[in-house]
Amino acid sequence: MWFGLNLAVALAYLALGLAVGRFFAVFGLFPAPIWLPAGLAATAAMLGGWRILPGIFVGSFLVNASVFGSPPGLAALISVGNAIGPLAGVALTRRFRPSSGLFTRFRGVVAFLAGVVLLHASLSALGGVTALWLLGGVPVEALPGIWSRWLLCDAGGTFYFAPSLALWLGVERVPAGRGRQRLERLDVTVWIGTAGLALLVFLLRLPPQLPASQLVFLLAVPLSWIALRISLRAAYTLLTLICIIASAGTVAGLGPFQGGSVANPMQSVGLLIVLCAMNILTLLALVSERREAETALAEANLSLERRVAERTSELRRLADADGLTGLANRRSFMATAEAALRLDAASGRPFALIAFDLDHFKSINDTAGHAAGDAVLRQTAARCAAELRDCDLFGRIGGEEFAVALPGVGRAEARRVAERLRVALTGIVLPIAAPRRQVSGSFGIALAEPGEDGLEGMLRRADSALYAAKRSGRDQVRDAI
Ligand code: GH3
Ligand code: MG
Ligand code: MG
Repeated sequence: MWFGLNLAVALAYLALGLAVGRFFAVFGLFPAPIWLPAGLAATAAMLGGWRILPGIFVGSFLVNASVFGSPPGLAALISVGNAIGPLAGVALTRRFRPSSGLFTRFRGVVAFLAGVVLLHASLSALGGVTALWLLGGVPVEALPGIWSRWLLCDAGGTFYFAPSLALWLGVERVPAGRGRQRLERLDVTVWIGTAGLALLVFLLRLPPQLPASQLVFLLAVPLSWIALRISLRAAYTLLTLICIIASAGTVAGLGPFQGGSVANPMQSVGLLIVLCAMNILTLLALVSERREAETALAEANLSLERRVAERTSELRRLADADGLTGLANRRSFMATAEAALRLDAASGRPFALIAFDLDHFKSINDTAGHAAGDAVLRQTAARCAAELRDCDLFGRIGGEEFAVALPGVGRAEARRVAERLRVALTGIVLPIAAPRRQVSGSFGIALAEPGEDGLEGMLRRADSALYAAKRSGRDQVRDAI
């Protein structure tokens, strides 16, 4: 795979070098004012790192040997600089690259400029002038001038071409656009209209009275609009197109930068492109930073709301539960049982309430201690709950007094349930110090009656049945009269 990628890079480099070199050579411009292969090399280095080095080297060697007619030694030495430059630049950019993506943060844009654009271009230029000095016979005094022109050509070719390629090849994440998938007709119209305007402006011989060389910088406006409304990729692609059109038109003597209005037409093209590129890169990075901060804030709010809801339901559960046994407390039992009673009364179903109180419980506390008494209460809750259906309601309504609501249950069944509960109490394990062998309880049953004054009334009747059971010797079940 790496061999294939290297081959593809070498061939693309050669094709681009041939096209750009030949094109500018026609106009006697050397080196080419905007060296696109440098942008390709930078993107390849961003994609594959040092593994792509042979491809860049071979591509550059072939271009130098064929397009510029350099002897093999000179072409090879120049190509060393052309291969090491992008790799070093990418390494610097990577060091400061934000994890969310190079173009999603202002820091990333600065890192891109410092590494991929400037360090890359200056090292490539340094390699080039060193080769020219050592093998090309170029005098030392000429080197600084060549170096700075070389740097500008590579930087120009990289600055607008590399992000475009990187975004299209998926090497870098496209910063979030407006979060909208479908393109609107207006967006497409503006994109095509701007491209058309650039074509018109740069491929016409404009009248010299027109302040076109200043007005053409207004192209930054639709480009920013496209970056914000569509995407960075859409804007950068358009910028690449404008750069090609502007370069082609300007070297052919057409467009706004002619007629002596500007000293260096190609430099003006470069300035226009750099301005627009800087503008859309920083604009989108800042918007992307802000959008991500907003998303993070929305997520934080959501998780806070979720935690509050969880905590509220936990507090509600705690407020309804009896801390010792985990059963419903008196308030919550009365409320839910009242609701169940109303439901059964409305549908004409029977409804029973059992109240029970442990016998001589005080003596367990007094002899075995309060903790032992607590353990008996917990066992009472667990053993009795095991005897009940899921739909039955069970609560601790006093110190050692409990209540069970039985929806849909009539007298005979309520009696059976109470009897089961009475037997269940005898299985409770008592501490050795306890004064008695077994735990027992006294039970009172009340059945819902027509015209009943609610659960409170039923509980009063069940309670008086319970006390009747106490008076009759305890450890028994009594019906309310
Ligand atoms: P009776 O058979 O007449 O019901 O006798 P009793 O001893 O059970 O009498 P009473 O109902 O008056 O006494 C209840 C005792 O339960 C009094 C109180 O100290 C004790 N008690 C109430 N709540 C708790 C508790 O949460 N833990 C413990 N260990 N004891 C409790
Ligand atoms: Mg008692
Ligand atoms: Mg009691």
